[in-house]
Amino acid sequence: MAEIIDGRELAKQVNAQTSQRIKRLAQRGVQPGIADILVGNDPASRIYSRTKRRNAEKMGIKFMIAQFPENATEEELLKTIEQFNRDDTINAILVQAPLPDHLDQTHLINAIDPRKDVDGFHPVNVGKLYNKQAGNYPVACTPRGIMKMLEHYNVDLPGKNVVIVGRSILVGRPLQALMINANATVTIAGRHTQHLSDLTRSADILVVAAGHPQMIGAEDVKPGAVVIDVGINRNAKGKLVGDVDFDAVRPLARLITPVPGGVGPMTVASMLSQSVDLAEWKINGEE
Ligand code: NAD
Repeated sequence: MAEIIDGRELAKQVNAQTSQRIKRLAQRGVQPGIADILVGNDPASRIYSRTKRRNAEKMGIKFMIAQFPENATEEELLKTIEQFNRDDTINAILVQAPLPDHLDQTHLINAIDPRKDVDGFHPVNVGKLYNKQAGNYPVACTPRGIMKMLEHYNVDLPGKNVVIVGRSILVGRPLQALMINANATVTIAGRHTQHLSDLTRSADILVVAAGHPQMIGAEDVKPGAVVIDVGINRNAKGKLVGDVDFDAVRPLARLITPVPGGVGPMTVASMLSQSVDLAEWKINGEE
């Protein structure tokens, strides 16, 4: 029976460390500041923004939400990003997805100063990650949180067979790079992948981020595997479930994340901690 990876508890520990670092920054007269750009009325995005703000403000991070109507133009958003790029009280800029169809997320992300790119999506930061460049740069927060969980639960990565289902810029791709950098052997699957079950059954560490409720069952998992479930879905009964059938897989896995209470809390904790990294790197001249 798998041990459950407690994302809520670990996020609390990360947040406690982040709070200490914020206090030390305050002694040097610095307060980290996050600007969150939100377009339209997507209910999940609004809730997510409010959660981030509540957590950030509790720790002493300045958090401002720049709310735009659904019909906001790219020009207006680019102007706002430019203002935040120049604003010394803001050291972290987020563009909340999903955006309305008429807006190109890439244009907006590319306009963010890479030193304020707390989501780690800017091509400069993505390139540094893929090249395993030395020095400091932000990394996508969900993969960062997953790596922290694996480290905390002493999951050994060098030489291990890692299979990632889902290859978005948010999760699969940056996680693939982090895993390669940690000397794992990585396979990444997408919608076109054939014989997915054969692949997932070969994984020592299986990460699922496809957005399909409970698509991974016991027959898709190798006994003793570590299973990280990134998916957040509502099932037919309206209950929050992951991409993994938790009850079916738990008996044969070694470690497993629940949904909710697994990857989700670590994503927010990683974003907050990374916003403090950005502030520290700036005042230490380590960007
Ligand atoms: P996305 O839609 O951008 O990407 C999904 C990926 O899964 C794509 O690469 C697609 O090719 C692949 N895919 C889809 N169906 C597949 C299938 N049947 N077999 C193999 N691959 C398949 O989604 P995303 O933004 O990466 O999010 C994925 C899921 O993770 C969603 O449920 C989302 O809500 C969740 N999510 C959770 C967190 C968190 O903090 N817990 C963070 C980000 C995303």
